[in-house]
Amino acid sequence: MLTVPEALESIIRHSSRLEPMRVPLAEGLGLVLARDAISDLDSPPFDKALMDGYALRSADVREGAARLRVVDEVLAGQTSRRTIQSGDAIRIMTGAPIPAGADAVVQVERTQLETTGTQQIVTITNAGQVPPGRNIMKRAESLSAGTCVVPAGRRLRAQEIGALAELGQSRISVIRAPRVAILATGDELVPIDEVPGPGQIRNSNEMMLAAQVRQMGAHPVMLGVARDKPDELLARIRQGLEYDVLLLSGGVSAGKLDLVPAALEAAGVQQVFHKVQVKPGQPLWFGTNRIESVERSHSLGEMRCYVNTGGMESEESGPCRVFGLPGNPVSSMVCCELFVGTLIRRLMGIEPAIPQTFRGSLTREHFHGGNRPTYHPARWEWTDYGGRVEPVTWKGSADLSATVAANALAIFTEPDRLYPADSVIDVLVW
Ligand code: AMP
Ligand code: MG
Repeated sequence: MLTVPEALESIIRHSSRLEPMRVPLAEGLGLVLARDAISDLDSPPFDKALMDGYALRSADVREGAARLRVVDEVLAGQTSRRTIQSGDAIRIMTGAPIPAGADAVVQVERTQLETTGTQQIVTITNAGQVPPGRNIMKRAESLSAGTCVVPAGRRLRAQEIGALAELGQSRISVIRAPRVAILATGDELVPIDEVPGPGQIRNSNEMMLAAQVRQMGAHPVMLGVARDKPDELLARIRQGLEYDVLLLSGGVSAGKLDLVPAALEAAGVQQVFHKVQVKPGQPLWFGTNRIESVERSHSLGEMRCYVNTGGMESEESGPCRVFGLPGNPVSSMVCCELFVGTLIRRLMGIEPAIPQTFRGSLTREHFHGGNRPTYHPARWEWTDYGGRVEPVTWKGSADLSATVAANALAIFTEPDRLYPADSVIDVLVW
């Protein structure tokens, strides 16, 4: 049975980033840039004023004082045709181009304006030292044409979106986000808007997994429920294989109706691993479409599908990665967080793809029974003493309501151990 790190490594080895596609800049947030964004302009494109005030020749200001003739006014978006001579000043607003002949700006707060007839005189007092360049941002000081502003591989945040907007890149090339089909299995499941009859439960996993997938930046597609009948399961799996990723919930343990591994094999999905040393989530199944079978179906024109996700079109053709997630809700949730998250990040080109943990010290002692590393729902908070973590009361893999009180998973790896209060452990923060 694989350990968690081995299973994560195996997922990485059996997947690679999806192909790039062009999207409107506004849709790029959270996606990974596929090509270096090179500046085609200098920024700022001209020497510009950083203050509202007067553009002048710095040599005209002595000991912080001067009396100058105001010969023009220039607002942001305008340019002045005048060239400043000694004794001249031009009223200027923040962001406006510095007029020819000027080499400094004195801010308006240090000045007083008098108007006599048509003549305007500005008196500068207490301006301190006014060296050349004062309150001016030189052309290309922030950025010069030809430099790389956002490197390929960068996941786009607001600041990258802003920088790309400055470059005028209204459409950008990004690694596309995967489409993730979600198929619940089980004869006992009813839709969430129905009242369960005897022996029935609501299909909560489908919604939960879709929410997790969306949070990870991928596109969930809910396929509903497949009943525990081999033929029905096979048909629904075939439908799910048309996506980049297929998540099944339930039917992967050792019960009489745990038909998923056999149905996946019948559909041509090759098992990569089954079962991981983890709690909750041990029965996890992972596999991928046989590449040969994908190519064969291509020649028959079957596997090809066109993905349209609101303005992002691309021809999808790669293999489908499949997870059989254990049906118990917390198992499904934890496996999605750990393993599906890693696959999605890998496909989206997000580095590092494997889950990143924080450290935290336990608020109280905790007994970890058994020998499987356990991801225990917990509350994590940042305090003056660093990260603190408190495991919540949790009745096991079917106890979904315990996770509502949690914002993290506390990771207990040492078998049958009483962890004393203040022990420092790894935590996966939601
Ligand atoms: P299974 O792995 O199919 O044996 O399911 C294990 C447990 O998870 C059973 O108690 C199921 O009723 C429950 N379960 C399976 N699928 C779902 C689902 N979609 N939503 C909520 N609970 C589920
Ligand atoms: Mg089942």
